Amino acid sequence: MRVLITGAAGFLGSHLCDRYLAEGHEVIGMDNFITGHPDNIAHLVERPDFRFVEQDVTKFIQVDGPVGGVLHFASPASPIDYLEKPIQTLKVGSLCTHNALGLAKAKGARFLLASTSEVYGDPKVHPQPESYWGHVNPVGPRGVYDEAKRFAEAMTMAYHRYHGVETRIVRIFNTYGPRMRPADGRVVSNFIVQALRGDPISIYGEGSQTRSFTYVDDLVEGIYRLFQSDRAEPTNVGNPGEFTIRELAAAVLDLTGSTSQLTHLPLPEDDPKVRQPDIAVARVVLGWQPRVPLLEGLQKTIPYFQQLVEREGAVARTL
Ligand code: NAD
Ligand code: UDP
Repeated sequence: MRVLITGAAGFLGSHLCDRYLAEGHEVIGMDNFITGHPDNIAHLVERPDFRFVEQDVTKFIQVDGPVGGVLHFASPASPIDYLEKPIQTLKVGSLCTHNALGLAKAKGARFLLASTSEVYGDPKVHPQPESYWGHVNPVGPRGVYDEAKRFAEAMTMAYHRYHGVETRIVRIFNTYGPRMRPADGRVVSNFIVQALRGDPISIYGEGSQTRSFTYVDDLVEGIYRLFQSDRAEPTNVGNPGEFTIRELAAAVLDLTGSTSQLTHLPLPEDDPKVRQPDIAVARVVLGWQPRVPLLEGLQKTIPYFQQLVEREGAVARTL
């Protein structure tokens, strides 16, 4: 099958390109590098079964020839990125999703939307099942991302119901691993880079807020299975192991042997207090569950950041 992956030069998009190529598919990667990097796909560009197109997907998407799958991953994903690029984030969630769905409809392709646990906002139901409608502040600073993704889900379901497009929606929970940008600003990359450099570990607020962290290989497996399944409704893919941000900091300090001190910065507005996926649906429908626990995933991730710190003097980025 020939698949289009938007956001192909990003963290998750590049891992998906690898997976689809490894499964024998032909991949067209599309990206405008707004938060991605050519290094993430440098190992693919010479392959005959991979083609890269540099394009802003908020503009009309033209692809010649057959397309069997569209995996729509383009969007800034780190809070620090979408707070800096609020309009692009709203446009990519709305206009891009419309374009990508239009292409899927025209080509008779199956479509998969990269949605997010952010659709649950600061949740009042814990853990979060797919049936929970969420608790999102539409006009707060994070609303540009959360509402763009909620719109994208609504648009995807409309194309499914009214145009009969085969669609899939994955609600991704905090995922980490090699190829995250060191200055991405998300908590795992920040803490690892800070620890490796001996810089202070930036805890926002008290660090009692929780997140559930998924290693990238587990996520890619869940997405691959979801794409192949016949489930059109949104599906959580994430690791239910839940940790406070302070616990994460302690784990990173321990694994890196760093003597970095903790420093406290203000908690960002509308920062969700808890987050944990209910993955009963993924277990039953996809036969999927995460295999990589947090400590093992961090161990697989640290060497990637270590070489960037040593080679390029990479630094973290805080709000
Ligand atoms: P990322 O920033 O590394 O990758 C996003 C990619 O999309 C980048 O390469 C960027 O350049 C590209 N992009 C953005 N706007 C574009 C546009 N208009 N045209 C073309 N390309 C564009 O982020 P990521 O972590 O790889 O996230 C990928 C997707 O997964 C996003 O849709 C994100 O919302 C979703 N997601 C990620 C996580 C996570 O924990 N990583 C969690 C939930 C959802
Ligand atoms: N966070 C932190 N220090 C950082 C970056 C993030 O304490 O340097 C916190 C942030 O406030 C949030 C959690 O870590 O509570 C996860 O943040 P991230 O940016 O990774 O993603 P989010 O889950 O908020 O989208």
